[in-house]
Amino acid sequence: LSKLVVAALGGNAILPKGARGTPGEQWATARRAAEALIPILREGARLVVTHGNGPQVGYLLEAMESLPPEVPRQTLDLAVAMTQGWIGFILQHSIERAARRAGLSVEAASLVSRTVVKRGDPAFSSPSKPVGRFYSRREAEELARERGWTMAPDPRGGYRRVVPSPRPLRVLEARLIAGLARDLGLVVVGVGGGGVPVDESLDPVEAVVDKDLASYVLARDIGATHFIILTDVPGVALDYGTPRQKWLRELPADEALRLVEDGVFPPGSMGPKVEAAARFVLETGGYAAIGSLEEAYEVYSGRAGTRITPPNTTP
Ligand code: ADP
Ligand code: MG
Repeated sequence: LSKLVVAALGGNAILPKGARGTPGEQWATARRAAEALIPILREGARLVVTHGNGPQVGYLLEAMESLPPEVPRQTLDLAVAMTQGWIGFILQHSIERAARRAGLSVEAASLVSRTVVKRGDPAFSSPSKPVGRFYSRREAEELARERGWTMAPDPRGGYRRVVPSPRPLRVLEARLIAGLARDLGLVVVGVGGGGVPVDESLDPVEAVVDKDLASYVLARDIGATHFIILTDVPGVALDYGTPRQKWLRELPADEALRLVEDGVFPPGSMGPKVEAAARFVLETGGYAAIGSLEEAYEVYSGRAGTRITPPNTTP
């Protein structure tokens, strides 16, 4: 049975923290990300790549706000779809080129992907995910009135638009992604930014789905054997950022979920990664690990990162 790997890439795969965001920076960064994935392909494993889009969707929303007033604004679902094309293209192209340099013949595809969420998800009554630029209080009140946006004060000062972050139920393109990856052997880039959210009647909704949770749902539904979450830290730490910080090599899935429920990991960063990896392990028995993108192969093969292991069974 051949391996099917879902690799979820963080924002650092295209744009490291602090980068300005020039096209040159993005190509250079994506090249390094692609090169980190090559050893997995060299082994003959099938590969599906998912990715975040936070900085890119923020860029598009800000760009729209700076257009003359008579130019129509596009909605958030369209902005997410645009970032899937943008980042999908860069990753697809970078992976093919890195493979070619490594002497492998690899074809890559990128797909605009949609993620189904529940209209009744409690997230819709408490939007929490900030998107786009910062506004003054007056501007915020105006936008709330004119566009029906939910505006919330940001801890860094000013106001931002907040949108719901509902739970992903399934990825509409799962069968397509599985067919391209498993049957045709293509590297598939999909579920960018967690996918464009649509409700059960397939109406697009203005929300943002967490990319790690959406990647877990995809990995589960396509029968992935491996689910690796690649980010900008070497793994999961306890007491992160404190003098007692301790990097974990292993974390049993049941314990991981308990820690997530106890709020040990921040909901906007490490929390969903640990939850996604733990649910994948509990529901499929597959291999899951969290670690740094540069060490993709080591994370995949258990030599680096934090592996989320099957629950401890009491003897
Ligand atoms: P990505 O773009 O890859 O999704 P995030 O910024 O969402 O990246 O999540 C990775 C970040 O999570 C790290 O840069 C780190 O600062 C933060 N983090 C918070 N808690 C922890 C923890 N317990 N262990 C490791 N990293 C943590
Ligand atoms: Mg993240």
